[in-house]
Amino acid sequence: MKLLAVGTVAFDAIETPFGKTDKILGGAATYIGLAAAALDTDVSLVSVIGGDFPQEYLDMMTSKNINVDGVEMVKDGKTFFWSGKYHNDLNTRDTLVTELNVLADFDPKVPEHSSEAEVLLLGNLDPVVQLSVLEKMKTQPKLVILDTMNFWMDIAWDNLMKVIAKTDVITINDEEARQLSREYSLVKAAKKIHELGPKYVIIKKGEHGALLFHDGKIFAIPALPLEEVFDPTGAGDTFAGGFASYLTKKGDFSFESMKTAIIVGSAMASFTVEKFGTERIENVTKEELSARINQFKELTTFESAI
Ligand code: AMP
Repeated sequence: MKLLAVGTVAFDAIETPFGKTDKILGGAATYIGLAAAALDTDVSLVSVIGGDFPQEYLDMMTSKNINVDGVEMVKDGKTFFWSGKYHNDLNTRDTLVTELNVLADFDPKVPEHSSEAEVLLLGNLDPVVQLSVLEKMKTQPKLVILDTMNFWMDIAWDNLMKVIAKTDVITINDEEARQLSREYSLVKAAKKIHELGPKYVIIKKGEHGALLFHDGKIFAIPALPLEEVFDPTGAGDTFAGGFASYLTKKGDFSFESMKTAIIVGSAMASFTVEKFGTERIENVTKEELSARINQFKELTTFESAI
C-alpha cells in the first residue's frame, strides 16, 4: 500500500534548555517522510517550499526514497518558518514566530501516482489545504489520519471542523484535545471528539505516553524513559509518520493493529527527541528501532495473577 502525506516542509529555529539552533530543516511533512523512510514505506509528500530552500535537503529526502514530486517550489517565495522555545520541563513550548510565507496561498497538487494512495496522512498545516488534498484524491483513501495543532484551532476553527468530520483517526496532544472538546477529562474529551467524526482518537501526552480511544475501548502506552531528551520538535509528526507507516505496510486498520502502530510511532519519536531537528531520525537503523519496540514490551508486560 501507499502512503501520501501533506504537511509543512520548513525552516525551524529552536531553543531548548540545552542549546539553540539557527534555521534548520523542519516541518511536519519532513518528519513524517523521514519516519516513513525508516520503515521502508512507499511514501510521497505534498507540500510547498520557497526558492530559498536548499536542494541538498530535497536530495537527502530523495536518497531515502521519499517521493517529493508533490513538493512545489515557488522560486520567488520564502519557505514556511517556525521558531519555538521550550520550557525547562521540555513538555511545553512557546511559539515565537510563525511565518506562513509560501504556505499562505498554497494550492496543493497531488501527483497522479499518489492520487490513489490507500492511506492519507493530513499532517499539521492549514485545514483548507488538508481538505483540498482530500478532495483531489482520485479514489477515497481507505484510511484518513489527521494531525493538527492549537494554532489552527485558534485561526481556522470552521475549516478544521470540516476536515475532522472526514477523518478516521485524529492525533492531537492533551492540551489540544481539551481545547477542541472544551472538556478537561481526556476520556470525556475523546468522546466529544468521536462525535465530530473520527472513530479513532489518539491523545499524545508528551513524556507521559499516549492514549488510543475507539468504540468505548482505551489502550494506553507510556513514553520510553529516555536518558537524553534534547529537542522535542517533530516528535508529534514523527509519531504520526511512524503510526501511519506501520498501518500502510500492514494493510490492516483494526484496533489491534493500531495498538502496535502507536508503539511504533512512539518508538520512532523517541529517536527524534534525542538530537536537534531531524538529525537523529535521519540516521536511525532498523535494529535500533526493533530494540526500542522490545523495550516497550519489557516496560509494560507483567503477570496478572495476585
Ligand atoms: P511537533 O513538534 O511535532 O508539533 O512539530 C514541529 C514541526 O511543526 C516544526 O518542524 C514546524 O516547522 C512545524 N510547525 C510549527 N507550527 C506549524 C503550523 N502552524 N502549521 C504547520 N506546521 C507547523
